[in-house]
Amino acid sequence: MTHIITSLCLRDGGCVDVCPVECIVPGKPQDKWPWFYIDPEVCIDCGACIPECPFEAIFTEDETPDAFEATGGEFQAMPVGTDGFDTPWEGNNHHGNTVKIESTKELEAGVILDFTEDIQPNYAFFEEGGPGYWDGWEDAANE
Ligand code: SF4
Ligand code: SF4
Repeated sequence: MTHIITSLCLRDGGCVDVCPVECIVPGKPQDKWPWFYIDPEVCIDCGACIPECPFEAIFTEDETPDAFEATGGEFQAMPVGTDGFDTPWEGNNHHGNTVKIESTKELEAGVILDFTEDIQPNYAFFEEGGPGYWDGWEDAANE
């Protein structure tokens, strides 16, 4: 099992600071990989990342909700070009630096979302077809 970062991730980066095995990586290029991703081969399921996320975007794999009900006002991020995701989002990350995400959507209260669809991108990021780790990733949060 592993932990999963879902599309509620807005690149705060707080999870990265607490992960004891340094297996959380910001997606790059951001237009294709808008979230941070957890390497399923390295994650030790310690759970330290979950309370650090201000957007409650992280779940254990087996508790990733298939019927998440939005309270309203949450933002969901997707790769640029995804239908319906045409709102730019801007905020500050865990270190106070500006974060811009091009392709988000503000959720309305009561919307039901299946976040199990976000499990495969988490794996794909580190497997064939995904960029995985790279040099200098600490500077990559906004690239
Ligand atoms: S703390 Fe949450 S929003 Fe920030 S990078 Fe981690 S999962 Fe994404
Ligand atoms: S559960 Fe622990 S090891 Fe896995 S990503 Fe979160 S902080 Fe890192």
